[in-house]
Amino acid sequence: MTDAAKHGFTTKQLHAGAAPDPATGARNTPIYQSTAYVFKSPEHAANLFALKEVGYIYSRLTNPTVGALQERIAALEGGAGAVCCSSGHAAQILALFPLMGPGKNIVASTRLYGGTLTQFSQTIKRFGWSAKFVDFDDTQAVADAIDDDTRAVFCESIANPGGYITDLDAISAVSDKAGIPLIVDNTTATPYLCNPIDHGATLVVHSTTKYLTGNGSVTGGCVVDSGKFDWMASDKFPSLSQPEPAYHGLIFAEALGPMAFTFHGIAIGLRDLGMTMNPQGAHYTLMGIETLSLRMREHVKNAQIISAWLENHDAVEAVTYAGLPSSPYHSRVAKICPKGAGGLFTIQLKGGHDACVKLIENLELFSHVANLGDAKSLIIHPASTTHSQLSDAEKIAAGAAPNLVRISIGIEDSDDLIADLEQALSK
Ligand SMILES: *Cc1c(COP(=O)(O)O)cnc(C)c1O
Repeated sequence: MTDAAKHGFTTKQLHAGAAPDPATGARNTPIYQSTAYVFKSPEHAANLFALKEVGYIYSRLTNPTVGALQERIAALEGGAGAVCCSSGHAAQILALFPLMGPGKNIVASTRLYGGTLTQFSQTIKRFGWSAKFVDFDDTQAVADAIDDDTRAVFCESIANPGGYITDLDAISAVSDKAGIPLIVDNTTATPYLCNPIDHGATLVVHSTTKYLTGNGSVTGGCVVDSGKFDWMASDKFPSLSQPEPAYHGLIFAEALGPMAFTFHGIAIGLRDLGMTMNPQGAHYTLMGIETLSLRMREHVKNAQIISAWLENHDAVEAVTYAGLPSSPYHSRVAKICPKGAGGLFTIQLKGGHDACVKLIENLELFSHVANLGDAKSLIIHPASTTHSQLSDAEKIAAGAAPNLVRISIGIEDSDDLIADLEQALSK
């Protein structure tokens, strides 16, 4: 294996975490379709179980194909380690699990993927956890919402669906001051456009389903740990800083240092919650990630051209793309995601809800699907789909008003996408 840390982004996306297979010389990372791994001796087995030696035991915990992907994503994000899992939503639970307990809360942005808003406002209550939603443009409100029971601050770098950019430096200054980890969902930006760890994030979560895989073929998730948070600095994170009863009293932060969160995610999170990524899925994402930078450049280029064209169209009331000078978030592009504002934005139509439905019906190249980050262009009406569980006020706060559609711009020829939008808007 080469020293990935020295390489540029595109070299890393091809090489980090992988090398020709030592057993066969296979150039591509094999799909290690095996549930278990033969121990060299009873002592070897005992050492693996005691975390005295690192190796493969059982594929609910670790698998070499999944392991290659974990190392690659950690390298692209500049993290100490990463744990892959079955979906983006699984990644969010996996990230919160070591931090939370009954009665503890998170402070989360109002501008999140609709499914995340529902996970945080409803489902986590069953664990005795709760979320306080705050406008993350109001840094003081974030600071004021943090209380003694807060265990994480959560936001998206480029927020779904509007493509709004979060001032991660301002938010991490608040979470740092409170001694609380900042978790950033970097799904829509990808590590090519934004590195949240450079802006103070403790943990980065991904739905690898989206741009990292890039072709809409598999669901997956990932938690990347910066390795920089001092879990021992307070008594707030006993799973990491005190003897962990679920792992014969191991003190993860003491024994594993910057890899504490990653090992906890495998040894406790995947072991006991079981939301494992399968090697076949990891293979598709490893294939996709090889072209991440190339695709993101095309996504950004097309989104820039098409959002500008839409902004001047008579049927369109507003376009939210942060790459446009008219966006209130435009000034954050240079700081947070200098290579571009991504491929995701919403448009509001003058004709309201009915015009949105008509546009979706009449488009031919754009697919009407509940997904984003595919190489193909996608469109959806969030108010009646991804954000339908929310109240009207929550929909508007989340950037999912009834008269808007979310567009995930693909990498097709921009002229063809514009021609398709033109014919559909004129009907
Ligand atoms: C899709 C998405 C998720 C959830 O990921 P799944 O892989 O669908 O579970 C989380 N956050 C963002 C920003 C997303 O776009």
